[in-house]
Amino acid sequence: MSHASTTRRDVLKIAGGAASLGAFAALGAGPVRAAAPMLGVSRPSVYRFKLGSFEVTNILDGYVQGNGPHPTYGNNQTPEAVQAYAKSQGLHPTKMEAVYVNTLVNTGKELVLFDAGNAKGRMPTAGKLAELFASAGYKPEQVDVVVITHGHPDHVGGLMDGGKPVYPNARYIFPEVEFDYWKKGDNIPEARKATRDLFMQAAVPFGEKATFLKGEGEVVSGIRSVPAHGHSPGQMAYHIESDGQRLLNWGDVANHYIMSVQQPEWHVAFDQDKDMGVATRKRIFDMVSNDKIPVVGYHMPFPALGFVEKAGASYRWVPASYHFNL
Ligand SMILES: [Zn+2]
Repeated sequence: MSHASTTRRDVLKIAGGAASLGAFAALGAGPVRAAAPMLGVSRPSVYRFKLGSFEVTNILDGYVQGNGPHPTYGNNQTPEAVQAYAKSQGLHPTKMEAVYVNTLVNTGKELVLFDAGNAKGRMPTAGKLAELFASAGYKPEQVDVVVITHGHPDHVGGLMDGGKPVYPNARYIFPEVEFDYWKKGDNIPEARKATRDLFMQAAVPFGEKATFLKGEGEVVSGIRSVPAHGHSPGQMAYHIESDGQRLLNWGDVANHYIMSVQQPEWHVAFDQDKDMGVATRKRIFDMVSNDKIPVVGYHMPFPALGFVEKAGASYRWVPASYHFNL
């Protein structure tokens, strides 16, 4: 029995089962139409909004799926506790997805790229940032400044492709503590040896012509660094302001919109100094919730733009809706 005739019969059944054979023949007289093909998942990968007179474009470098949230999140909790919490929040208890979202700011004078994404080919589902520049309306050659939050592979891997700079006309800005830490290579934990190797290949070659940020330093007019150490030794967040509109790019201060934002004290396996990671999360969450500063976060659900609200003794992530479209 063909699929089409089954479908027709089902339709007739639903209609009450009273249709005569004649009616069946009449229904079948129309043109034969194929079912629309299944297309698989489609994800938005470019999102642009205005911030004062700046334009901010978030681009999805990619995603990765794997086991979790535990032990990456709630590293100091039992697996059962984290699994139960994930379920209570409507999330799968043992599987998760992480996204990588780069932020590009056009100040009108300069095109500033925050972090460079994963190296092309590091995984099949990530390392797409440079390819997506065209659909975002830009060319990699137009980037004037590349600003790095920290030295992990998903943030610096995409600086180079085949030993050549992906953003050939850019100048480079690194947090000084972060750059020195990975370059010197003292006290690198075993689990971060590969991170150090990649940093030497992908980031250190830019050190010659880079500038380095200490504390709260100016990146370009309207963009300043905000120390956010913990996840890595010298991570910086960046405060972006135009015509009185503010935005914080928090890098990896929080890496999961529920596990990190609602449970800031839960340790994160990727935080090099876990206690400092907790303190930084709370300080930054207080800052953005008290001052109602919108946030872009590298691992927040795409388009990775939202707000943090206080929720009792904790916090919650509130995705932006049309706030920036009006
Ligand atoms: Zn990251």
